[in-house]
Amino acid sequence: MIVKPGMKVKISDFYTGWAHNDELKEAGKDVVKQRAGEILEENRTALTTAQELLWADNRYSILIILQGMDTAGKDGTIRHVMSGVNPQGCRVTSFGVPNRQELDHTFLWRFWRATPGRGEIGIFNRSYYEDVLVPKVHPIIMEDQQLPPGSGSNAFWEARYKDIRAFEEHLVANGTIVLKFFLNISKEEQKKRLISRLKTEEKHWKFSLSDLTDRQFWDHYQRAYEEVFYQTSTDSSPWYIIPADYKWVARTLVADLIVRGIKKLDLRYPETTDERKKELEIALYELQKE
Ligand code: ADP
Repeated sequence: MIVKPGMKVKISDFYTGWAHNDELKEAGKDVVKQRAGEILEENRTALTTAQELLWADNRYSILIILQGMDTAGKDGTIRHVMSGVNPQGCRVTSFGVPNRQELDHTFLWRFWRATPGRGEIGIFNRSYYEDVLVPKVHPIIMEDQQLPPGSGSNAFWEARYKDIRAFEEHLVANGTIVLKFFLNISKEEQKKRLISRLKTEEKHWKFSLSDLTDRQFWDHYQRAYEEVFYQTSTDSSPWYIIPADYKWVARTLVADLIVRGIKKLDLRYPETTDERKKELEIALYELQKE
């Protein structure tokens, strides 16, 4: 599930379902689903506590990057995993097609401004990885982007991967934990989800014709993602490929990995110095004698 640095992976080799081993299969779907629900709940509670400590400690930040094909479940994962988190220390930023002002800057510009501050959790719903996916699959869109000559060449893509690695390395070196999740759904499951969007009136708003166009480029996207994993899965910010045909599986795994990521930090509440303790004692005394 974790992509080891320098490893060439084929997405089709990764399982997208709920039972990736015999033990789970034997237990049966209902049992596994129930246990997954319990683990998710435990992790939600753990995340609430961890976030408070992260905030109090005020030295590290967490950046969670969610990528996946359309309908992979990014929004639902954010909603479910982060439901217990204090909104004050958490910010979700969704990135769509870059606007004119964004295109007038280098591709990382708009992401810089959305990175989490110390003590905060930042979530990128899509990210700069789109910049090595969408224009790679549809080079024609670069014609309108005022890019210098050579755009779209191998060297151009290599430079973007390098920039991304350097960007993340810089964040990590300065106290940000970068957690990258690819929600991996199968093409069949995407078809089911798109049909459900078309057949259910309350889901119509979620449907976009471009989802169908991009579906026709499924294999191109899979290749582009494989290159992303190869180029940008590093020791300090590896990619996790998350089986996502069952939403409960994806949510449970993502929550678990976030909690594990935060727990690796040596977080602590700021120490109360002797001087400060005296100050607090005086404050308490003043209040009590009122
Ligand atoms: P979502 O599909 O995530 O729910 P939207 O319907 O707003 O959100 O779609 C966002 C669209 O923006 C996606 O089709 C995505 O591929 C596109 N997008 C994001 N970043 C870029 C980029 N850098 N270049 C081109 N398209 C992008």
